Amino acid sequence: MGPIQFPAHIAGLKPYVPGPPIEHVAAEVGMSVDRIVKLASNENPLGASPRALEALAAAAIDVSRYSDPDVAKLTAALAAHHDIPAEWVVAGAGSESVIAMVASVLLHGGRSAVYSQYSFQSFPNATQRSGASSIIVPSPNHVVDLAGLRDAIRADTAAVYIANPGNPTGTLTPFQEIVDFLEAVPPRVVVLLDEAYFEYVPTTERGDSIALVRRYPNLVVTRTFSKAYGLAGLRVGYGICQPQIADTMRRVRAPFSVTQAAETAAIAAMCDTGFLDHTIASNATWRTQLERTLRDMELESLPSVTNFVLARVGSGKSFAARLRMSGVIVRPVDNYGLPEWVRISVGDADDLARLASAMAEARQFATSST
Ligand SMILES: *Cc1c(COP(=O)(O)O)cnc(C)c1O
Repeated sequence: MGPIQFPAHIAGLKPYVPGPPIEHVAAEVGMSVDRIVKLASNENPLGASPRALEALAAAAIDVSRYSDPDVAKLTAALAAHHDIPAEWVVAGAGSESVIAMVASVLLHGGRSAVYSQYSFQSFPNATQRSGASSIIVPSPNHVVDLAGLRDAIRADTAAVYIANPGNPTGTLTPFQEIVDFLEAVPPRVVVLLDEAYFEYVPTTERGDSIALVRRYPNLVVTRTFSKAYGLAGLRVGYGICQPQIADTMRRVRAPFSVTQAAETAAIAAMCDTGFLDHTIASNATWRTQLERTLRDMELESLPSVTNFVLARVGSGKSFAARLRMSGVIVRPVDNYGLPEWVRISVGDADDLARLASAMAEARQFATSST
């Protein structure tokens, strides 16, 4: 160890576990990059909205200039889209950065944050980074136990994080339960409702969480352009909340963190409802197919309302390692405390065919080697 002393809560941080890059796996297994199937990061298999790509090309962005620190155009477009004042929108470099802003403005040593077991890794990371302590509520059925979350709130609790739908579980908490929860939570406790997969939730099961922001000054709803909108690489997401929190969040936001490219593409993507509808319909079709493939192989999976499925495969790590030899990348979730499971993103028809044959090969390998 060198002479530099990091605070214990920083020294103890675990690195973010990403899906491995395609180039890396291609080199490792000796396949060309275009033969690799990546189903590990819940990206859009159809790519980005063509209108977003056209807008990017047409904008002829001068990259020598700083972007607009207020992200005014995107903020105005989002405010109009959600029918709320622009002051209620906080855009950031991915919703990950919005989660971090909420932690920055509320958490510090001596305070606590409450979230469910099997929560998205940004929740523990943002909490630990702040020096606050985490209160993790058990989730025996892989759904968020909201009564448990409410009971876990202490006098020092400043924030509660809920992802709905959850990642890596893919499961949905019924909207009415969220409403009841908000009603029961003390108004000094901020609730962050992470809706990164909102667009994939069937319309019959969606609730109007923006209406809840109007009712509860302690609610922050986050959304992203990374998943259904297919702009993961540009880093743009946002939070919606009332001005008391929003104004404070803007003061901790890194200046110029939303680039002009990200802003331009996001505005165009938002208007491209055709691409979004196509994405949602395609995902529903191929998710059903993926679930069927898993069932045929007698593998249990959780009921997903997202663009990924959590499947129980025995050892997630060795399952993922075997598929990787066939050029198919899925995500082990042992870092979430789910060593028996893997998370598989819903791809397109070709991706699923490759996945199915890789799984069949892996099974044959497992049978012949025992
Ligand atoms: C992917 C994801 C996000 C956000 O991603 P960004 O790219 O930072 O917008 C947030 N929450 C959950 C649960 C996710 O799965």
